[in-house]
Amino acid sequence: MSDSFQNIPGTFDILPQTQSSASDNVASSHAWQYVEGVIRRVMHRHGVQEIRTPILEPTALIARGIGQLTDIVSKEMFAFERGNTHYVLRPEVTAPVMRAYLQHHLAQLGGVQRLYYIGPCFRAERPQKGRYRQFHQFGTEYIGADDARADAETILLAVDIYRELGLSDFTVRLNSLGAASSRPAYKAALQDFLRPHVAQLSETSRERLESNPLRILDSKIDAERKLLEQAPVMRDFLDEDSKVHYDEVKTHLRAAGLPFEEDPFLVRGLDYYTRTAFEIESPVLGAQSALAGGGRYDLLASEIGSKQDVPAVGFAAGMERLFLALDVAGIALPDAENPDVFVVTLGERAAAFAFPHIRTWRQAGLRVVYDLKGRSMKAQMREANRQQARRVVILGDAELDAGTAQLKHMDTGEQQSVSLDSLPAKLTE
Ligand code: AMP
Repeated sequence: MSDSFQNIPGTFDILPQTQSSASDNVASSHAWQYVEGVIRRVMHRHGVQEIRTPILEPTALIARGIGQLTDIVSKEMFAFERGNTHYVLRPEVTAPVMRAYLQHHLAQLGGVQRLYYIGPCFRAERPQKGRYRQFHQFGTEYIGADDARADAETILLAVDIYRELGLSDFTVRLNSLGAASSRPAYKAALQDFLRPHVAQLSETSRERLESNPLRILDSKIDAERKLLEQAPVMRDFLDEDSKVHYDEVKTHLRAAGLPFEEDPFLVRGLDYYTRTAFEIESPVLGAQSALAGGGRYDLLASEIGSKQDVPAVGFAAGMERLFLALDVAGIALPDAENPDVFVVTLGERAAAFAFPHIRTWRQAGLRVVYDLKGRSMKAQMREANRQQARRVVILGDAELDAGTAQLKHMDTGEQQSVSLDSLPAKLTE
């Protein structure tokens, strides 16, 4: 039996090289950095500031925030106890961000807090392509915002990130779940409609019928979807304020030229959503088609202990799904950066001589690499080629004695002898 370790199924390593194995995650660390860079840039342009919250949170925050009856809380939490404290590895970031907002009295800063995050989340789901146990989300939270422009801006911001990365094949689905006050009447109407058909429902839907009937709406089972075609829709039960708000969101999206589909069956798997709910889907992702989802969560703050209601809206998006979509769309992402200079040395004297100079060139901003294994000149040149270095500096005893170095331009193959004094200038030019 091999005693070497493997990563836990549903997690993956992000390596400098792209991994070829399809079950592993697709992108290299260079691609991750690039995509994160685009996300940060778009956030920056929107005046959205980064927040970093801990991976560990109190279990009760997540249970109360997301809702006991959701799949995430009832089945998928990585939760444990130490001493008298119950910890959970965060399964999402909205409740933690709202906790931080309340804890640090960010409301006192006035205005709306536009916040974003990028980081790992954990859910004990059955691992499959596009679904992991440790995955990464990026997202925004606009906290303190009641205005429908905040809802529209949230959706447009996510769309801008996808477009900036070159992704164009996605759809935006939109719905309003109404305010807490209008939800009970709709729930009751949906239950009344479904109860006579209970025999046709799956076991999961039957369980949800009494506890959380709205979740039946996003059933993926064909027979249930057919049945739901006749079901009452939330739109007809919306309170006046929610109706006006929903219309405003749509008006802003149309004014921004963003096509969207209204989907009366769009509900989200987390309990805290009210009014606006949306999903961004990529048709190329198969079963795990959701790139991002979000909406309003006006009730979350009071669910987790705020005396005041705090209106808020946000989205959460999966990094891994984004990489999969970019891959299918054939969008090339940057891989390893080539060195500016590869230093080839012959013998210990040259190697020792080069060492402090390499440091100086690096301090001047050049990306300089060299062999650390004392390999032959031929092997060093091969490595310089493999790494596609722009230039190679060759130093041997003869060069040192003459106070020179050989400088080779790898694109043209041209090689010249240059004085050591002029080398820094030649390298940075
Ligand atoms: P949610 O917080 O469930 O609304 O998820 C938001 C987004 O995170 C989804 O649209 C996916 O892109 C991504 N996501 C959620 N769960 C997973 C998972 N287990 N593995 C990979 N991505 C996920």
